[in-house]
Amino acid sequence: MGHDLKYQKNGQKINNKHPLYHFKRQVWNSNVDQYPAVIFECKSVDDVIGAIHYANENGLKITVRGGGFHPAGKSVKDNAVLVDLSHMNDVHIDEISRIATIGAGAKISEVDEVTQEYGLAVPLGMVSCIGVSGLALGGGIGYLRGKYGLTSDSVVGVHLITGQGEHIYVNKFHHPELFWAIRGAGQNFGVVTKFEMKLYPVAQHILAIDVIYDYKDLQQILEKVEKYRQTAVDDISFHLAFFYGDNAKPYIRLVGMYDGELNLKVEKEIIQPLLELAIPIADNTEIMTYIEMQKKFDSWVGDSFAVEGISLFFHELTNEMIQLLIEECESTEFSLHVTILEFHGKMNRISEYETAFTIRDANYLLIIDAETRKNQEAANKWVYDLYEKLLPYSYKQASYLNSSQENEEVIRNSYKCILARLVALKMAYDPENLFCSERKLLD
Ligand SMILES: Cc1cc2nc3c(=O)[nH]c(=O)nc-3n(C[C@H](O)[C@H](O)[C@H](O)COP(=O)(O)OP(=O)(O)OC[C@H]3O[C@@H](n4cnc5c(N)ncnc54)[C@H](O)[C@@H]3O)c2cc1C
Repeated sequence: MGHDLKYQKNGQKINNKHPLYHFKRQVWNSNVDQYPAVIFECKSVDDVIGAIHYANENGLKITVRGGGFHPAGKSVKDNAVLVDLSHMNDVHIDEISRIATIGAGAKISEVDEVTQEYGLAVPLGMVSCIGVSGLALGGGIGYLRGKYGLTSDSVVGVHLITGQGEHIYVNKFHHPELFWAIRGAGQNFGVVTKFEMKLYPVAQHILAIDVIYDYKDLQQILEKVEKYRQTAVDDISFHLAFFYGDNAKPYIRLVGMYDGELNLKVEKEIIQPLLELAIPIADNTEIMTYIEMQKKFDSWVGDSFAVEGISLFFHELTNEMIQLLIEECESTEFSLHVTILEFHGKMNRISEYETAFTIRDANYLLIIDAETRKNQEAANKWVYDLYEKLLPYSYKQASYLNSSQENEEVIRNSYKCILARLVALKMAYDPENLFCSERKLLD
């Protein structure tokens, strides 16, 4: 218990005798029940370096926890050293250069609160309780994606501690190949302790679009969404969500954000079409602050959840694919959250070669999360079988790895186009495979 000065100057080393060990090893997905060898609760770069030395000296692998929200619980593993960064959450703004320096343990809300004081924002995710780290290293899809791109697109530099405990600064001039990789496949090469991210102006008040449609209108709605998406302005982004479970009939919820000037023309030509995709059951669209929008779904997320999830990118949502999806979802015993995110605008204009997030011309992302309280093993199998069935319709067989179960095939499929480049980087920066997040890179 207490400080172990050899490895921790400011933070805490928590082993399995510590009263908080079981609390601290938890991650958001309550199915994940892993027993790390030791947890280093770091408060400084020196603490992180100490944790890495400890892992090396004891022949242990390392996992890193930003917010601990990865749905597959990738930040904790049996017998590995868990580097917990949650106390390294400082956020500083340089208003002149419009760069935010963000501690790797920060949550989205902690960043939004500071940046909004300046009328600025980093494009982050759509609930505010999750970690910025995992989000930024794997992509980061939020309401500002059309206007400003992904979270990873706004990263201009990171401080990273390698598996040898070396502190390096990574940007387009220093370690440029690693800079490419940490923006999309960044969980594999070391511990990022600090991000430097571009800031963008965001209105204090935005339009929060929130419409409920009847499920029977799904096909018609998807057709209209595709037409709308093709000419959509960058200022808007939205997704469709539906929930199956509790014997209730699902409904469709269209949620989106418009960050731009509001006038009669905009309301008529840009907003109204989304409110009339079919006859709405309810329309709760309203003006609210950007921070309120970011927090709108936090209460749904909760502290933990038992979940198995998959995701796949699509170029188009064919009738056949949607029919298959509906049949599968309607016939399962599991409660499901299904989300279809549409993509257009800046996130798709960035070259596929610029960062390791290479999926730049997919138009949709489908995310399916099954609640697994009833039977985890069966849920896992159901989710994975559905993944296999949907794979032929998908775009490049790629999944959004930030929102997917950890499975060899899913990872291999998703990294297919860049695998050789990632393996070369892994050999250069983590040849011992200490950071085993995507361990398939070195198999
Ligand atoms: C309820 C919920 C809502 C979500 N909403 C969105 C959304 O709107 N948009 C979106 O794009 N995604 C969303 N996600 C997915 C989200 O991107 C991932 O969960 C992401 O991993 C969260 O980051 P984290 O820091 O909490 O992850 P963690 O679980 O802490 O880490 C995830 C992975 O990154 C590694 N890692 C974390 N920090 C570091 C670091 N500093 N250095 C090196 N490796 C590190 C970990 O080892 C692990 O492999 C959501 C997830 C949940 C559960």
